[in-house]
Amino acid sequence: MQDTKAGNESLIELQNVNHAYEIGYQKSIKALSDLNLKIRMGEFIAVIGANGSGKSTFAQHLNALLLPDSGKVIVDGLDTANPDNTWAVRKRVGIVFQNPDNQLVAAIAEEDVAFGPENLGLPPVEIRQRVAYYLKLLDLTAQQKRPPHLLSGGQKQRLVIAGVLAMQPQCLVLDEPTAMLDPSGRQQLLQTIVKLNRENRMTVVLITHLMEEAALADRLVVLHQGTVAMDDTPRQIFTQKAQLEKYGLQLPGLAEMALKLAAVGLYNQKRIPLYIDELVDNLCGL
Ligand code: ADP
Ligand code: MG
Repeated sequence: MQDTKAGNESLIELQNVNHAYEIGYQKSIKALSDLNLKIRMGEFIAVIGANGSGKSTFAQHLNALLLPDSGKVIVDGLDTANPDNTWAVRKRVGIVFQNPDNQLVAAIAEEDVAFGPENLGLPPVEIRQRVAYYLKLLDLTAQQKRPPHLLSGGQKQRLVIAGVLAMQPQCLVLDEPTAMLDPSGRQQLLQTIVKLNRENRMTVVLITHLMEEAALADRLVVLHQGTVAMDDTPRQIFTQKAQLEKYGLQLPGLAEMALKLAAVGLYNQKRIPLYIDELVDNLCGL
């Protein structure tokens, strides 16, 4: 795999992880199957896969919300299966889910951000500093006194992220965080996520079923039937249209357009474009 800006230090390791849900007498659904993955400090990984491919089950293994039936998940050297480690693991890996309404607890925005640090038992001065810092980082200072239910979907999701970051985790896991947002809320949230990785060096695992979102990451992991089917840079993975289709996925619109243009001699297909400018720069024969 092409290297990224991330360091080589491994932060999370999943080793032969299996997980099945019991759904009745002697019946179960296999959700993860011998899944192996190493997440390094500072990486920005997107995880993509068709519905039911195991993305959410995988996400919940990263901070001990779910435990493997067999295999291991090691977070910063801590085995998530050891109950003594649960708290330490959850401190290191924060999760943001699809629906912000399920994660907001307080009546006022700033109280929501304070909730996690209060549970960590931090001194009030430190809590106040963190609340102000993370509200500003997520562009929510003007909303600090407002009740969360009056915020837009995108603002709510950023508030959830501020609350998770206020615990100062080493890794931020987002499970389809833009699913409930309108296009502008989605765009702003994605920019925020990219910035957190690039500028604040946060390790990010972005779970999505949208190829356009996956294109933002440095590394793209494709899940299929609960296991890692592909693991490479987005650009490399987007050259493998047939393979992706086998896993129930399609190329991003931009890559698809480049292929169509190349087929009629209008695109110099040296590499699959990730950005509109790359597509435009490689147009030819006009
Ligand atoms: P994804 O997030 O990629 O859609 P999930 O991890 O939610 O995938 O689901 C993986 C498989 O496990 C699917 O077959 C799904 O139906 C099943 N599954 C997920 N959650 C549960 C649950 N709580 N009980 C039973 N089966 C579940
Ligand atoms: Mg899911």
